Amino acid sequence: MTRVMESRPQTTHDRPVVATLGQRPAEPLIFEKSSPGQQAVDLPPLDVPTSTIPQELLGAPVALPEVGQHDLVVHYTRLSHRNYSVDTNFYPLGSCTMKYNPRINEWAAGLSGFARLHPLQDDAQIQGALRLLYETRCFLQEIAGLDEVSLQPAAGAHGEYTALKVIGAYFKDHGQPERRVVLAPDTAHGTNLASCTMCGSEVVGVRTVEGLTDLDDLRRVIDEHGPEKIAAFMITNPNTAGLFDPRIGEAAEIVHAAGGMLYLDGANMNAILGKTRPGDFGADAMHFNTHKTFSTPHGCGGPGAGPIAVCKKLSPYLPLPQVMMAADGSFYFDRDRPKSIGKVRSFWGQFGVFVRTWAYISACGPEGLRNVAEKSVLAANYLAARLRDVFEMPYFDPARRRFCAHEFVTVPRRLLEKGVTLNDIAKRMIDYGVHPPTMHWPVQDCLMIEPTDTESKRTLDQFVEVMRAIAVEIDHDPGLLAQAPLEAPVRRADEVAAARAPVLVWEE
Ligand SMILES: *Cc1c(COP(=O)(O)O)cnc(C)c1O
Repeated sequence: MTRVMESRPQTTHDRPVVATLGQRPAEPLIFEKSSPGQQAVDLPPLDVPTSTIPQELLGAPVALPEVGQHDLVVHYTRLSHRNYSVDTNFYPLGSCTMKYNPRINEWAAGLSGFARLHPLQDDAQIQGALRLLYETRCFLQEIAGLDEVSLQPAAGAHGEYTALKVIGAYFKDHGQPERRVVLAPDTAHGTNLASCTMCGSEVVGVRTVEGLTDLDDLRRVIDEHGPEKIAAFMITNPNTAGLFDPRIGEAAEIVHAAGGMLYLDGANMNAILGKTRPGDFGADAMHFNTHKTFSTPHGCGGPGAGPIAVCKKLSPYLPLPQVMMAADGSFYFDRDRPKSIGKVRSFWGQFGVFVRTWAYISACGPEGLRNVAEKSVLAANYLAARLRDVFEMPYFDPARRRFCAHEFVTVPRRLLEKGVTLNDIAKRMIDYGVHPPTMHWPVQDCLMIEPTDTESKRTLDQFVEVMRAIAVEIDHDPGLLAQAPLEAPVRRADEVAAARAPVLVWEE
């Protein structure tokens, strides 16, 4: 399928609007569509007494755009078509688990009994909501193989931070405040290091060999820093190289012998749901990313949830409030744990996300969750096997029985030697309708590809064809890739300027 692409006219708004057949005019800013007096909503008549807001509380009037409802809908619908989403195309973004989010989740979260709750209602009025939170807690405890879950943290990174605070509180309470060293493999996710830093811990790297933790190096760094200083070893398993570390139990023993805790970064739980449980391989604490594993929406910084699961000895330090079941079967919030680290988020945590989590886990059931793990691992191994003759895979070698988990890493050296960059390859994937994978992590010059459990074999086969077509283009016309994307609404953006000098405010 070597598709030859013609460059379509660009539709960025700095080009003149030309209405030619087959060509779409540029979409102006909503401000540019504004005309005085237009409005998109009809407010109901006022049925309460008016009161005047004191002048000192009023700022200068803000120049908001004025558009009719239809123009508003057209505007945002058009913009949404320029966007990229799990509902429009294949999205193999490694370590992010961009799976399909079943619509029944949205139906459940939209039920007015859930959507219109007030967080300050009495426990007696919200028994159904509390039951949902309690059952979600129990599901996650079971999946983790750990004793207690807190639903409070707002994201995976926030879960890491909260759990490190809980571990720190435990050591302080047990007269070991000097345990502040957190060990992490050199392939750790950036949030692991950031969470440690925010908690005032010292992060120490542990070497990996062929993608797996080097246990000798783990012993060495523990000795070097003093076992009495070790707070935790943070590890992702399956890890960021896409490998399940079979010696995780041994790593746990080494860390426990030093008096430290094993923290499992649960971002990759999709691969092991119902197959093994972190508590069973020695984890003392972990987080879940509901937006990765349990099909809740990924949203630019929220609304998300990163529940944590901990072993019994860490329970007293969990954040509050905690949802509980009383002896009579009713539900309530426990707000009284003297050793708790306190609050990490407002009210009950991200309730709407837990409705979706509950719906997903309930719909799957134990067999369904195991099936998720099996399919995600099968999909990744299928892609790796079909692509490895063209895209080198340092950690994937069926001859040595080295398979991947739910994702795999390729370092396409031969193609890069033809003079294209990894970025060129990623940008060309956009032209073929595929979201570029995670890049340059956990190793330089790599693509990390995660197909997830919800993609059909047909989509996987199409992806193989796309990657092979790009490889053929590189062999014949590497210059073409330097131009990519040729078909996207925005061509190659200046990513440094976009990150360092973003223009976020409209000025006339
Ligand atoms: C996604 C991810 C995180 C961070 O999770 P967020 O929910 O995005 O905060 C941490 N570790 C790993 C390995 C991840 O993939």
